[in-house]
This record gives sequence, structure tokens and C-alpha cells, in this order.
Amino acid sequence: MSTAPHPGAPAAPGAAAARRGAPATASRPASHPSKATDRALPIEARGLVKRYGEIIAVDHVDLTVEAGDVYGFLGPNGAGKTTTLRMLLGLIRPSEGSVRLFGRDPIADGIQALEGVAGFVEAPRFYPYLTGQKNLELLAAYDGGGAATRIEEALETVGLTARRRHRVGGYSHGMKQRLGIAAALIRRPRLLLLDEPATGLDPGGMRDMRALVRRLADEGMTVLLSSHLLTEVEELCNRVAIVRAGAVVHEGMLIDLLAAAAGGYRLETTDDEVALGLARAHAGVSDADTGPGGLTLRAEREAVAELTLELAAHGVGLHALTPSRPGLEELFLRLTESP
Ligand code: ATP
Repeated sequence: MSTAPHPGAPAAPGAAAARRGAPATASRPASHPSKATDRALPIEARGLVKRYGEIIAVDHVDLTVEAGDVYGFLGPNGAGKTTTLRMLLGLIRPSEGSVRLFGRDPIADGIQALEGVAGFVEAPRFYPYLTGQKNLELLAAYDGGGAATRIEEALETVGLTARRRHRVGGYSHGMKQRLGIAAALIRRPRLLLLDEPATGLDPGGMRDMRALVRRLADEGMTVLLSSHLLTEVEELCNRVAIVRAGAVVHEGMLIDLLAAAAGGYRLETTDDEVALGLARAHAGVSDADTGPGGLTLRAEREAVAELTLELAAHGVGLHALTPSRPGLEELFLRLTESP
């Protein structure tokens, strides 16, 4: 796991991973840190670019995460999610652009910018031969300021109290993910950044992870969550950014995204082939197609009413006409796969 760097934690695997890719300044407070204010946005990224030679991993990404948001960061494999999270956490330096976490720059201000911020990038990594509790104690020692007193609470929150004295090497994937969150929680973050926390979990593990994130959000934590699991994002997040080939193709309230995509209908008719021909020729109807569930199309209400009359006039009966509200998955595919 690349964690948000714990101050001076070179030995712990999580922290070590965090520091490997980190610029030299990431763990050193700058002499003139930028000013953090209570009213500053948890995350404000502007024009973020990351190039690896010819590859543009992240291409002018803007992100605004407000206090209380559960922000879904979505995109297909290779879209640039992890690279963006690494830049947000100050683990790698942007080629262009800026990041502010509560008003502070994680590159220029180093560890000070991560006050109140925690999270992990990619899979959690801990010392496998130490217990979950011991791993957390090591990380807490770097954090100081009472982090050790929060270990019990963090283990309880993620449901690992009963297994705290077991070696991490014997933990399941889901338990390691939850220990990763516990490691973040001992820092008592106001902002939590999680890179695909439920990836690889079984359905029960996903449900538990979802419930955990929901609980943290209900307690007032701001969360940025990258995910492939669209139902999870649909259930948890109030705002989303959808990235494709390094660039944001949609950003905004999830509810607005879903509403804007409404206007779809599904028809079951006595003759879908004839109905399809009529629908395609009808003004105001678009995206008409047939599938196992019948005929699908997009249209304004009036155009749908006119089409039903036309179907009747051509002897095509209607078994069902259902407005379909596309799920996030359909929108995601539309936004990330259309030419
Ligand atoms: P996934 O969902 O598969 O984890 P992602 O959206 O997190 O993908 P990134 O891991 O950020 O995507 O990768 C974005 C692009 O940048 C990919 O083309 C990847 O190969 C490239 N990339 C990332 N890190 C490096 C690196 N260190 N060197 C070269 N290319 C890199």
C-alpha cells in the first residue's frame, strides 16, 4: 500500500512504498508552507498533468471535492485514477498543474499538507510477520500525537478487534484492505482517499466495505474513492468524476448525471422488427435498437406518444412501455467507450 506518508516512517512497508515514488520534498515541511484554512476545500486540483515519456497518464484534470462529499473517481483500467491519487497525496510530482488539500500543497508543503488527510493507493502492504495491532502501533509511532490511543477504536471500526493479535500474513485480502483503512483512521483524518478499496473482495466483503465507508461519511469524513464498482459508487457517492484516457469526461453531482441521462424507454411489442423500423424513421426518436428485453430508444414524451399511435396504425400491438432510468454502468460505458 502506498499510504499517505506518515512522518519519518521509512521502515514500515506502507510508508516506505509511499516514499519510494515521492519527491524529496514530500516528507519535509517547506520553510513557507501555503496557508491552510478551515474553509479551504478538502481537494482542489487544477490542470493536473502527468507524463511518462510519450505517455500522458493524466491530462489536465480538475477536481473539486467539497467538505462532506463522498466523491467517486471512476474510469476504466489505465484511465489515470491511481496516478491522480498519487499526485493528490504528494507521492509523485505533477508534470503540470497544482493540488491543494485544505489549501495546502502536498509537494511544496510536504507532510504538513497531509494533516487531516489519510488514505492508500493500490493494495495495502504491511509487515506480514507482525500482527495487525503491531503494524498499526508502528505507524502510530510515526504519527505521534495520540495516534496510538486510537488503534483500538480503529480496529473496532473496521471489525478487526478479534483478529488484532494475528499475523497479517494470515489475513484475507478483505482483512488487509480493512487494516489499510484502520491505518488511515488512526490519523483521525477529515479527508480519506481510497484507491479501489473493495476491489478483489467477495460480495460480503464488498458490502462490509461499503457499510464502513458509509459510516465514516455519515460521521462527517470527506471521502474520495476510486472504483470500478459502479453500483458501489451509485450507492455511496454524491459526486463523481469519470475519467477516460487521463481526462475527465464528466464531473458533477451523481443525481444530475443520472437525470440528464434519463429519457430512455423500453417497449415490448407484437413485432419488434417492424417497431424498430418505425421508431428509427420517427422524428424525435434516437438510439432505437432491439435486444433481449425488447425495443429500447430515447425520445421526448410527446414523440413516444406519437410513436405508439403509429405502431397501432401499422398493426403493431404494445405489451409494455417502460421508461428506463439508466444506471451508472450504462452511463459509464457511454462516456468511456463512445468514439
Ligand atoms: P487501473 O484501474 O488499471 O488501476 P488507473 O486508472 O489507475 O488504472 P494508472 O495506473 O493511473 O491508471 O495509469 C494511467 C496510465 O499511465 C497507464 O497507461 C499506465 O500504463 C501509465 N503509467 C502509470 N504509471 C506509470 C509509470 N510509472 N511509468 C510509465 N507509465 C505509467
